[in-house]
Amino acid sequence: MKTLLLLICSLCGYVQGQNITVAIIGAGFAGLRAAQRFEQLGINYMIFEGSDRVGGRVFPFSYQSGYLQYGAEYVNGEDNEIYETVKKNNLLSATEIDEEGYETVVYGQEVNNKMYKIWDKFESSTNEKLERDGARKEVKNQSVSERIDFYFSDFMKAQKLSQSEQTVMQNMNKLFKNQYQLEWSAPSTDLCLRNFDTWDSGVDSEATLNEIGFKSILDELASKVPKTKIGMSSKVVNVDYTGTKVKIMLSNGQYFLFDSVIITASLGYLKKHKTTLFTPALSVSKSAAIDRFGFGNNMKIFLEYNDPWWPNGMSTIQISGRVGNTETSNSLEDDLMVFQPFLWARKILVAWVAGNGPLEASKLTDSQLMTVLDNHLDTNLKNVYIVSKIQRIHRHSWISDEFALGSYSYISNKSCQSNTDDIKLMRDPILTNRRPVICFAGEHTDSEMFQTVVGAARSGLREADRIANYYSLL
Ligand SMILES: Cc1cc2nc3c(=O)[nH]c(=O)nc-3n(C[C@H](O)[C@H](O)[C@H](O)COP(=O)(O)OP(=O)(O)OC[C@H]3O[C@@H](n4cnc5c(N)ncnc54)[C@H](O)[C@@H]3O)c2cc1C
Repeated sequence: MKTLLLLICSLCGYVQGQNITVAIIGAGFAGLRAAQRFEQLGINYMIFEGSDRVGGRVFPFSYQSGYLQYGAEYVNGEDNEIYETVKKNNLLSATEIDEEGYETVVYGQEVNNKMYKIWDKFESSTNEKLERDGARKEVKNQSVSERIDFYFSDFMKAQKLSQSEQTVMQNMNKLFKNQYQLEWSAPSTDLCLRNFDTWDSGVDSEATLNEIGFKSILDELASKVPKTKIGMSSKVVNVDYTGTKVKIMLSNGQYFLFDSVIITASLGYLKKHKTTLFTPALSVSKSAAIDRFGFGNNMKIFLEYNDPWWPNGMSTIQISGRVGNTETSNSLEDDLMVFQPFLWARKILVAWVAGNGPLEASKLTDSQLMTVLDNHLDTNLKNVYIVSKIQRIHRHSWISDEFALGSYSYISNKSCQSNTDDIKLMRDPILTNRRPVICFAGEHTDSEMFQTVVGAARSGLREADRIANYYSLL
């Protein structure tokens, strides 16, 4: 009996963290969720956050009576903790976007109903086919773009369309691929069909939140982690696991020793810094998985007007084709295809930009970018609307944010073709005598909900439990 009590006590000691300390690199959702778990279990830990704020790619900023989101905005699935917070804090939007309120403009001309009808049939049947193709052995390693073009070519052969109608359809096809590019944050030419079969949120739903949205979700999670346990502006430049303790080196030369580390840096950050971030270097297989897996590039630009110039009920404006002087046009304009009004911020139109657009936009000052956007909207939409001038823009460049270096991850063609489980390879911990010394969390390490805040939070919890389990089993 005495021996049993002693054993139980020694387990308590470890689980309550009297004997171990863990470093968490990053105060995004993965890092904060891991910290929340350690708080619950009484395990000692410290978070090192390179930037001067918590949240990472969840980045609400105050606007009028609510918050606009530079990063995450929607919540996927319902059977998860984030959705529970949405329900508990009453964060669901009371109004839904009217999916019918589309305006599509090709070479400055509104697409007419006849064309829409033909197109809609193609689009809905192709969406379904692509979903199925994701599980079909013969095609699942193909890219979305390749497969859409295959279906599009068949579809066009069956239509009797004039030359100008064919041009409209080709542009609709371009916009269709851009929708995938925006949603998955991946060039459609590199977005492997297998994503559709692998990614799974349980129920196929995406919740639109109200004006408080992710601000409330972030505040709630951050409130569970004492501020004293987060070292802000603490950029980790090296994680050295050669000794018994793991040495965390900061950019200011300070270092700290820990028993285990959870690293939550984005895949973009790992791709760029993995060779200098770890001593000794990561295994060849982990490093190759980090290289192969896709990391995309998305940006929202919030255009603020004095008054809305678009009609009530409008959900999306899509623009394709070049109007005006093509010599002075640059590739940024090619990627300015999708604009959406906001349900609660009536004077805001948000430009959803993917492809090369975010990089091109990040080279411009706000005033230069406003000029490009004003000209682009005016030349393309002048036959349809009287477009007024933008007053201000709000944006965050994820591609040039040194701690994100892009938006979120996806299964790339290379990853598909490698026949390896790259998510698992990226997630596998580095063990020393079975002790998890370096654990890997972050959205890119969740097998079913990579890309998302839900996946990020789950990954933090998973790695915190991995460490707790190990020490309690000693
Ligand atoms: C434009 C955009 C729209 C999105 N929309 C949605 C959406 O609608 N729904 C959804 O679910 N998801 C969305 N996402 C994705 C979602 O935001 C991410 O999946 C999630 O926030 C990632 O969390 P994380 O903890 O894995 O990584 P991060 O949030 O990137 O956190 C990592 C943290 O580590 C820090 N860090 C990095 N390197 C170091 C270092 N060397 N030293 C110290 N600290 C470091 C970073 O500063 C950061 O705070 C979107 C993302 C973007 C960019």
